[in-house]
Amino acid sequence: MSKNYVIGYPRIGENRELKFALENYWSGKSDLATLEASAAELRRRHWLEQHDAGIAAISCNDFSYYDTMLDTCIMLGAVPARFRNIKDETLRYFTMARGDSQRTAMQMTKWFNTNYHYIVPEFAVDDTFAPNTAKIISEYREAKAAGITPKINLIGPLTFLTLGKSVDRNFDRFSHFDAVVKCYEAVLTAISTLDEQITVQIDEPILVTGPDAKALSLLKRAYDRLGNTVPHVEVIVATYFEHACEAVEVLAHTPISGIALDFVHGPRNMDALATIAQSGKKLIAGVIDGRNVWRSDLDAVGDRLETIAQTVPKALIIPATSCSLLHVPYSLSAETKLDAEIKQWLSFAKEKLAELNVAAKRFAGETLNDAELSLMQLSREAVHTRQRSPRIHDAAVQQRVAAQTGTERAEPYETRIKSQREALRYPLLPTTTIGSFPQTPELRTLRRDFKRGDIDAQSYEAGIKAYIDDCIAFQESIGLDVLVHGEPERNDMVEYFGEQLAGFAFSTNGWVQSYGSRCVKPPLIYGDVSRPLPMTVGWTTYAQSRTSKIVKGMLTGPVTILNWSFVRDDLPRADVAAQIALAIGDEVDDLQNAGIRIIQVDEAAFKEGYPLRRENISAYETWAVDAFRRSVACARSETQIHTHMCYSQFNDIIHTIEAMDADVISIETARSGNALLRIFKEVGYKQEVGPGVYDIHSPRVPPVEEMVAQIHALLEVLPKEQLWINPDCGLKTRKWEEVKPSLANMVEAVREVRAHLTL
Ligand code: GLN
Ligand code: ZN
Repeated sequence: MSKNYVIGYPRIGENRELKFALENYWSGKSDLATLEASAAELRRRHWLEQHDAGIAAISCNDFSYYDTMLDTCIMLGAVPARFRNIKDETLRYFTMARGDSQRTAMQMTKWFNTNYHYIVPEFAVDDTFAPNTAKIISEYREAKAAGITPKINLIGPLTFLTLGKSVDRNFDRFSHFDAVVKCYEAVLTAISTLDEQITVQIDEPILVTGPDAKALSLLKRAYDRLGNTVPHVEVIVATYFEHACEAVEVLAHTPISGIALDFVHGPRNMDALATIAQSGKKLIAGVIDGRNVWRSDLDAVGDRLETIAQTVPKALIIPATSCSLLHVPYSLSAETKLDAEIKQWLSFAKEKLAELNVAAKRFAGETLNDAELSLMQLSREAVHTRQRSPRIHDAAVQQRVAAQTGTERAEPYETRIKSQREALRYPLLPTTTIGSFPQTPELRTLRRDFKRGDIDAQSYEAGIKAYIDDCIAFQESIGLDVLVHGEPERNDMVEYFGEQLAGFAFSTNGWVQSYGSRCVKPPLIYGDVSRPLPMTVGWTTYAQSRTSKIVKGMLTGPVTILNWSFVRDDLPRADVAAQIALAIGDEVDDLQNAGIRIIQVDEAAFKEGYPLRRENISAYETWAVDAFRRSVACARSETQIHTHMCYSQFNDIIHTIEAMDADVISIETARSGNALLRIFKEVGYKQEVGPGVYDIHSPRVPPVEEMVAQIHALLEVLPKEQLWINPDCGLKTRKWEEVKPSLANMVEAVREVRAHLTL
């Protein structure tokens, strides 16, 4: 029998069953037994799906009620102090994830360069660790009862500690390293009783980020011990998303059994083959892309495996997915509305299982059955049609991208800002918002009814216009300087644009877990991108027609659109970004020609696309900045370009932000005071900046005095001529009852500060 290996499988359920089971449980609509039954049913289904697809190495403990990093905290007894007095284990678990009225939830952040969020472990000086293997043991037994002998997935100690944070000041969480490793040993010992032979996959994705000498020595210390804990427990260390060459050098000299490497997103792993071959360890070879949605080129996969086999003995190579399939949707079978040709080019989790099975069989020299032969055929056809299909390749787009050489605006910032101040005449400390206003249930119903065809275009338009009217009237009434239309027509800041751009497709059921019970359905960019028709001009000019104040147009930037989509893999990401940039540029031009004088191009996800390895960062920055600049290059000098970014760590990227050359940037600062602004001052940042003066993630209405103090703090760092005043981010998740007084207070605070400014 050929060998093959799946790093991990999604758990939310093909129809998001786990999401609904969790949310019913949280809201009290169902009890724990019901939740547990749904979860058990999903696990069983997922195991059998893999088994029936011919998968040999199937995981347990890749399931989670919320997140596997959180599960790792439980496995090690790493429960932050504020949750320890919650006796009920289930309640404690969900409170760690979600908080309650007395306790803030643990922080959540993005898992490497994916859109999955993990719970950030917290470490304090007096932590102790104790193994808890209840979840693992019960899942293992469940799998056995279903006829599967699974491998057991764990997240490794180095990744766990590195991705965690120290909560005590000046405390080095790595001082817990030996205690944590000891706890892992106890876990391995406890689970060794489960069977005569057990495989444990320990994920150490942190190893792909370019570990330093200290990390590598910890790695050696950990796996010298974990690889040897119990003779019949074989340990596989799994890495993914990039190459792990440095770590392979170290792991090769530890007693582990095998290493999983990602050859799709870390082609440099080819350089590690000789070391693996010498070590005699198994190589779990990630050759089926686990995080993108395209049908595999099975001939290319075969060639890659054969190339690997030139260095590593064939018997040691096990074809695998490049990472957990958690990052792709379940199955194409639910996609009845997708265009048939596009659908042929795709492969979601279930389809990837079949591909992996075929790749492994071919590699082992086994005969393919009819279904497998036809899968080969479909793979070849997809390769062929993707190279030629006019749906994908648009010569006009390619020519335009090639022809646009300069990405500079016509005049430098110093000249532009003079014309802008003259034309726009905004006061000192101009006030504005980030774009969206509350998304009310009525608004969601309106959009849904229109999408379903339950109401006609006229009623839909009337509904949206009524919202815009209210939004403008409110902003005028409190005296904001630069107004917005409120984004009522947008369900999502990427989806809205994707739906109107050529080269994008949308699945109906392509859900991917984002965090906890939340899922997203990223657009699929399959072909050359262009903008057939204006996308925002109608709503924006309508809003402008309702007021004599300036209305700011709102667009999503090319890098953000790219980073929140599944992107075609037959073209470099840089080229796709350049195409989206031109499409957004067309919109910028139409907006300015329609009389819109300020245009904001949001780059909320600019930082998320950063490569995992330092050596690749400057190439990314170059093309990402270039894409942003291309998208606004057509703006006339007096058209003011804003951008917005949703985070607050700028020290590393300040020069990149400068290079974007936006006239105004709004950023998130409310929760970090003015400390982060200092970097803008230090580097002599010239352009205008809107540091958020209140946190929009909380329902709290900040009082006037608080914002007055915040503005004064900002003025200590940056000159008044350079500052805009706005909230941290868009207001769509808030309620009108919160937004109205908060913004009114913000404007009032600015009035007070202005009155005391010496002009
Ligand atoms: N303009 C968008 C909004 O206000 C920006 C959202 C974001 O930065 N995430 O919702
Ligand atoms: Zn934001």
